[in-house]
Amino acid sequence: MVDIERHDYDVVVIGAGGAGLRAAIEARSRGLRTAVVCKSLFGKAHTVMAEGGIAASMGNVNSRDDWQVHFRDTMRGGKFLNNWRMAELHAKEAPQRVWELETYGALFDRTADGRISQRNFGGHEYPRLAHVGDRTGLELIRTLQQQVVSLQQADHAEHGDYEARIKVFQECTVTELLTDPAGRIAGAFAYWRESGRFVRFSAPAVVLATGGIGKSFQVTSNSWEYTGDGHALALRAGAALINMEFVQFHPTGMVWPPSVKGILVTESVRGDGGVLRNSAGERFMFDYIPEVFKDNYADSEDEADRWYEDPDNNRRPPELLPRDEVARAINAEVKEGRGTEHGGVFLDVSSRLSADEILRRLPSMHHQFRELADVDITAEPMEVGPTCHYVMGGVEVDPDTAASRVPGLFAAGEVAGGMHGSNRLGGNSLSDLLVFGRRAGVGAAEHVAALDARPEADQSDVDDAARRAELPFERAGRENAQNPYSLHAELQRVMNDLVGIIRRDEEMRRAQERVDDIARRAADLAVEGNRQFNPGWHLALDLANMLLVSECVARAALLRTESRGGHTRDDHSAMEAPWRRTLLVCERDGDGIRVSEQQQPAVRADLLELFRIEELRKYFVPDELGEAQV
Ligand code: FAD
Repeated sequence: MVDIERHDYDVVVIGAGGAGLRAAIEARSRGLRTAVVCKSLFGKAHTVMAEGGIAASMGNVNSRDDWQVHFRDTMRGGKFLNNWRMAELHAKEAPQRVWELETYGALFDRTADGRISQRNFGGHEYPRLAHVGDRTGLELIRTLQQQVVSLQQADHAEHGDYEARIKVFQECTVTELLTDPAGRIAGAFAYWRESGRFVRFSAPAVVLATGGIGKSFQVTSNSWEYTGDGHALALRAGAALINMEFVQFHPTGMVWPPSVKGILVTESVRGDGGVLRNSAGERFMFDYIPEVFKDNYADSEDEADRWYEDPDNNRRPPELLPRDEVARAINAEVKEGRGTEHGGVFLDVSSRLSADEILRRLPSMHHQFRELADVDITAEPMEVGPTCHYVMGGVEVDPDTAASRVPGLFAAGEVAGGMHGSNRLGGNSLSDLLVFGRRAGVGAAEHVAALDARPEADQSDVDDAARRAELPFERAGRENAQNPYSLHAELQRVMNDLVGIIRRDEEMRRAQERVDDIARRAADLAVEGNRQFNPGWHLALDLANMLLVSECVARAALLRTESRGGHTRDDHSAMEAPWRRTLLVCERDGDGIRVSEQQQPAVRADLLELFRIEELRKYFVPDELGEAQV
């Protein structure tokens, strides 16, 4: 039998981005012994990469902003498919979470009168994103880490041990969740990336905060950790995933040189005045304002430009439409032959702001383009195109407690589904992490407090998890051995080309066949060597997760016969009101996936009353509006 290290905790948080750290701080503050496990270095998460800011209706720059306006914008951005209760909690609690960050030591940019500065972003009616230049995520992570350290110092003072009640296990990858015979969470199985040594975490509550799935796609702003681990762990443990067909393609990723294709160009460039032009120099977004947004967006360059100075008397520039709209418009321009030499469009801020202002507001973008593309954004336009950025789909959770269907399993942040509906607004992720990270910490603590005995996994399950992790070594040298790097590259191409920004029935069927075929071959994945720092082995284990998640995306996308938010079909190009209330739910079914339809609860009447009835009629079937008596 292999040697397996064991650690006992009350709560295990998987993931040390914004959602995981906020959940861990909450669980520890409620007196629970908490472990934070992350496969990357502590501090290296997607949260640290966030640039533009965190959305919260503090009303610092425009006092008309409040939670109701934020709620409305979020629901419109998600094309009303959002879990309305999550959108409500998020809009109400985001300001508190930002102010709380200040108490942890965050230093946001300020307005002239000393308040937290807020910037414009796509889909947000008022300037709403609190920010630190274009490095907001760095400040968020730094502050949350500092709060963890101060809790550890308090523990040292009380117990003589910094790690008495909160400990970080970095570069440690979880491969399976452990349950007791009744199906309740009992812990997690992991390995140390450096030594390959196996670890068993025993805990009655687990919070998944593992982020997204972008590494299943070829062109992506996401980095190596985003392999859909949390999504797959939840499915295998018996939880359900919802909304997996909705994948956000951010309109502006770098397109040149090839080695950096997909790296994000923050939406702040457009929020701060940047405009999109095609190869003929036309500001083309005016041609792509959809009917549902016509009342809110300017239809001339003059009005759009006046909005930056006088937002109360002018409509917004169409460059600030929600991301799905802008990404589709860029895609169409390139397809119709009006793209740049490298298959993108131009994003120009150099003719809109002074060089000093660009350096002050967008220092990271200036550095990124100078170092990676030899482009000076203070003097010339950037070339940009869509890149896979964010998954709206994730673990189905209770909106108030973040609890999944599996007793003891909670999920928060990008791994959770529902909050953003079919399309997330920029800035709404960082606020989501803090609002629902905290709620997951509370949910986990209350779950543990209510237990009369700790669930325990059978030792045989733990041994099986170890055996499964070692399988790739046993297959090394066999005739049909498959290489993880080749299969991963193949999967990324399939998802990019066949389930990408524009989808068609026939292509998605082909994608399913190809994903099934790769999955069949993945049963022969083989890795040479041993468990000591072996990236091929790490990828072999991650690949199983990417395949499972890709199957969910492809199958749900085929079933949803309409276009909405991050799901655009050539063969069903309209948004269909009956689909608004329908969620596609993925569950494990033997070795496969079952996808079924589920109706969302009706939106509460007082929330519907925040909208004009004419607007609601564009999204809802008449019966739903009748029920709510609007
Ligand atoms: P993450 O911050 O990614 O953390 C995931 C954690 O899970 C990591 O610690 C990882 O190591 C760990 N993990 C994963 N799998 C395992 C496993 N199997 N075992 C152990 N640990 C595991 N959103 C905004 O609101 N505003 C912005 O300005 C913004 N800018 C962005 C810019 C970029 C370039 C990118 C990529 C995203 C941006 N986003 C932005 C989106 C936002 O950053 C992410 O959605 C958010 O940070 C996700 O946070 P999280 O806590 O859910 O996951």
